[in-house]
Amino acid sequence: MIITLAAVGFLFLLLIAVLLIRTLRYTRHHGEKNQVIPGDLDIDEAAERLSVAISFETISTQGSNDFNEDAFLKMHRFLDSAFPNIHRKLSKEIINEYSLLYTWHGKNPELKPVMYTCHIDVVPIEPGTEKDWKHPPFEGKISDGFIWGRGAMDVQGGVLAIMEAVEHLLETGFEPERTIYLGFGHDEEVDGHLGAFAIGKLLQERNVELEFLLDEGTPIVHDILPDLPNPVALVAVAEKGYLSLELSAMAEGGHSSVPQGLTSIAILSEAVHKLENNPIKGKVDGLVKRTMEAIGPQMPLLYRIVMANLWLFGGFIKRELDRMPATKAAMSTTIATTIFESGIKENVLPTQARAIVNFRIHPNDSIESVKEHVRKAINDPRIGIRELNGSINPSLVSDVEQPSYRVLRKTIKNVFPEVVVAPTLMVGATDARHYAALTNNIYRFLPLRADESDLDRVHGTNERLSKHNYHEMIFFYTKLIKRSARPLE
Ligand SMILES: [Zn+2]
Repeated sequence: MIITLAAVGFLFLLLIAVLLIRTLRYTRHHGEKNQVIPGDLDIDEAAERLSVAISFETISTQGSNDFNEDAFLKMHRFLDSAFPNIHRKLSKEIINEYSLLYTWHGKNPELKPVMYTCHIDVVPIEPGTEKDWKHPPFEGKISDGFIWGRGAMDVQGGVLAIMEAVEHLLETGFEPERTIYLGFGHDEEVDGHLGAFAIGKLLQERNVELEFLLDEGTPIVHDILPDLPNPVALVAVAEKGYLSLELSAMAEGGHSSVPQGLTSIAILSEAVHKLENNPIKGKVDGLVKRTMEAIGPQMPLLYRIVMANLWLFGGFIKRELDRMPATKAAMSTTIATTIFESGIKENVLPTQARAIVNFRIHPNDSIESVKEHVRKAINDPRIGIRELNGSINPSLVSDVEQPSYRVLRKTIKNVFPEVVVAPTLMVGATDARHYAALTNNIYRFLPLRADESDLDRVHGTNERLSKHNYHEMIFFYTKLIKRSARPLE
């Protein structure tokens, strides 16, 4: 008995020691002051140029009938005149009439090219919300230190910041060692098929292999965790896949006064119920761990003890992350029934019922594994399962040990010294997926500062970008383009 107690006591002490050692190795960095942006860029003039770009109504809508061709052509002409050095020295190709591909030829063909992408289309203004805008969405008003309007954040701000950076580098006589591509699709907000997909295909036909690609993506988020004092620059190194399945059930029709067993609605409801109650389980592994490893050292001691010892607290962390829809979505494949249709008249038995279930596939799963899960969860031969068009497997997870990620991380830290850089998973889709064949190193990041309320402005009302942040964005792209133009350290 005494021996057992001593053994338990010893194990307990050992456990405490392991926890402490692992926690102490998890050092906390002190936040530095925000860097003052050097350079000779006239931010007022740059803000004016962004304001003009916002004024073109380059709206992507689901139906192509109301496509405003003129707006896109005006945008092209404006970019030519506002950035004369780019116009003169880079080669410009127009893809499918409205998308743009610029090539800045490097001196050293041995080095793989790099690519910077964003999109020039924007989402429409939701009808009825026009009056809620502080300034009209397509005026590009500069007021209170902000540039206001649709696209300021998503993502004319990104397109113009990249253009400003390249124009500035050209002005200073900079010549890249490797080739740099700038790709600006015109239909990202619908599916990117005519824009980014076509650009990606063209480069693939030319046998282009990229060192890395940086697309728009996750921002620098402020105040995401109550106990984390630093903003977090989230770099999405992967994005989820997409799948929609149609489930259907058939049953005898006829008059509702003489029902014949279960109706098609009842059969299908049961299937949907079974599926939604059988979620695809997520894990605290791979990318989630990487995110936590990056953020953890900045957290208070108690968090650090937990996060430094995932081997012990993994289950607890998972339960905590599962409680919030956003973190849950980042850890697993989501299942959502979005359409349910049946019946035509109150006294007629419906012969058919159909439902659409939408899945966002985590990189741990695939289209096939999700379909297998659905078949098993429903386990009912009366239910037809059909895959709809548009499914795509999750992206590869880009390796954060690559030199390109290190250069990106270092540049973010240079321009935004107080931030913590953390890799993450993008739960939505961007144009980046259309370039997957060109490189394994794809990063989705926009150097845009956003707190929770700002995130509602994206695709929402009162979209705006602060002049100071825009200045930081231009500085960031200038530094990164310059650094990535030579062999990566
Ligand atoms: Zn976007």
